[in-house]
Amino acid sequence: MKTVAIVGRTNVGKSTFFNRLCQRKLAIVHDKAGVTRDRKEAVGHLSDLTFLFIDTAGLEETTSLAAAMWAQTEKAIEQADIILMISDARTEINVLDIKLAKRLQKIKKPVFLIANKCEGKAQEENLNSFYQLGLGRAIPFSAEHGLGLGDLYDALAPFKEEVIPEEQGEKPISLAVVGRPNVGKSTLINKLLKEDRLLTGPEAGVTRDAITIPFQWRETKFSLIDTAGLRKRANVTDSLEKMACLDTNTAINYAAAVVLVLDANAPLERQELTIAARTIEEGRALIIALNKWDTIKDKKALLNDIAEKMRTSLQQVKGLSVVPVSAKTGFGLEELMQTVGAVYSRWNKRISTHKMNLFLKEMTEAHPTPIAKNGRRIPMKYMTQVGIRPPTFVIFSSNPDELPESYLRYLTNGIRTTFGFEGVPIRLQMRKRENPYADKSAGRRKAKPAKK
Ligand code: GDP
Repeated sequence: MKTVAIVGRTNVGKSTFFNRLCQRKLAIVHDKAGVTRDRKEAVGHLSDLTFLFIDTAGLEETTSLAAAMWAQTEKAIEQADIILMISDARTEINVLDIKLAKRLQKIKKPVFLIANKCEGKAQEENLNSFYQLGLGRAIPFSAEHGLGLGDLYDALAPFKEEVIPEEQGEKPISLAVVGRPNVGKSTLINKLLKEDRLLTGPEAGVTRDAITIPFQWRETKFSLIDTAGLRKRANVTDSLEKMACLDTNTAINYAAAVVLVLDANAPLERQELTIAARTIEEGRALIIALNKWDTIKDKKALLNDIAEKMRTSLQQVKGLSVVPVSAKTGFGLEELMQTVGAVYSRWNKRISTHKMNLFLKEMTEAHPTPIAKNGRRIPMKYMTQVGIRPPTFVIFSSNPDELPESYLRYLTNGIRTTFGFEGVPIRLQMRKRENPYADKSAGRRKAKPAKK
C-alpha cells in the first residue's frame, strides 16, 4: 500500500481532510489554529483506491512548537510515497505556504496541491493564485462538504496498486512444468513427487478444467498445475486421467512460476523459445531446467552454447536461471527447486519509492535522457513501483511518448541489476504528468484537470 502524507500549515483543514478519507472522527478538529498536535496514520479509501494516510500537525511560525512541527512534516514527507499539500482557498497564500511549497518542489516524489475550503465562486476564482506555489494546478476541494473527490481520484489513480493477493509463507507457489513432448516433464514431476511424503493426491483447482497437485519440497509448499505431460504419470488415479488436461498456455496463465524443461541434447528449439517468450510476456517467473544432463559428454561446451543462444534469442530478460538436471537420476533437483523459490521471491519483491528515485537520479545522470521536440531533455519526474508479481514500475514524465525504447531498456536493465531482479520479467511504464512549471504564469484556469 502506498503512503500519502497530508501536509500544510495549521488550520487549512488537514484533519478534516484526513477524517473524510479515513472515515474517522479521531483527529480532533477545531476551528482554531494548532489543535492537532500528534501525527496520525490511518488507512483511507477513495472509491477503489486504498492508501495509508499520514496526517501532520501542520506548520505555524509564531509558536515555539514551529521547529518540532517542521520536523514532523519532514518525517512524513520522507516516509510517504505521495504528498498532498493542503492549502486554504479562503485565505491568501502566506509565507508558510511558500516555504513549504519550495521544499516540496525539491523532492522527487509526486506532490499534489489541494485548495481546500473551495465551496463557492469566490474561492474558485482564487484558484489561479495557487499557481505561484509552483506545484501546478491546485485541486479544488472541500473536505467538509466532500467536494472535489473526483479530481483527487484522478490525481491518485495512477498510484493504484494491482490487487494480486500476496502469497504468504503458507500459501503454495503455483508451479507449471512445461516443454515439448519427450523432454522429460513427466519423469521430472514423478521424481519431485516421489520425494514428497505429504502428497494427498490431485485436487480440483483453479478452474473446472484445471487440476493442481499439492506437494512440498523441503520447507516450501507448491501447487503443481497439471499439464498434458502429467497424463502419463503411472501412479495417478483414474479421475486425474479423465480430467481435462491443460495446454501449455493455460498452464502458464495459472502459474506464478514456470519451469521450462529442455532436452539438453536439443536445447532451445524454436518452439521452446516461443514458450519462454510467452512466459515472460505474461510476467511469470521463468526457470529453465536443462534435463537429461546425465547424457551430455561435453557439458562445458553445452553451457556456453546455451548462454550464447539466450543472449541472442531471449534477451528480454537478462540473468534467466538455467539449471542442469537429470530427472532420471535426480541430479540437480535440489538446485532446481531452490532456484524456483529464489526467483519466485524476487518476483514478489518491493522497492521503496525513495530508493527508486535515487536510482532514477543516478541513471539519468550517467546517461541523460534524449532531447524532446521542445528542445529540452525529456524530464523524468519520479519513479515508483506500483506492483509485484511481476515487479511493475511507473515513471512520470511530461512527455513520455517521446522516450525511445532503447532508454526504457537501459532503465529496465538497470532496475534488474541494481535491485536484484535477475531472471525476473519487469514491467516499466511511462505515464504522463503535467509539468507544474509550464502553467505557472497561465492567466486562465483550465476547465478540466489534466489526466495524469
Ligand atoms: P515428457 O513427454 O516431457 O513428459 O517426457 P517423459 O518424462 O515421458 O520422458 C521422455 C523420455 O526421456 C523417457 O524415455 C524418459 O525415460 C527419458 N528421460 C527423462 N528424463 C531423463 C533424464 O534426465 N535422463 C535420461 N537419460 N533420460 C530421461
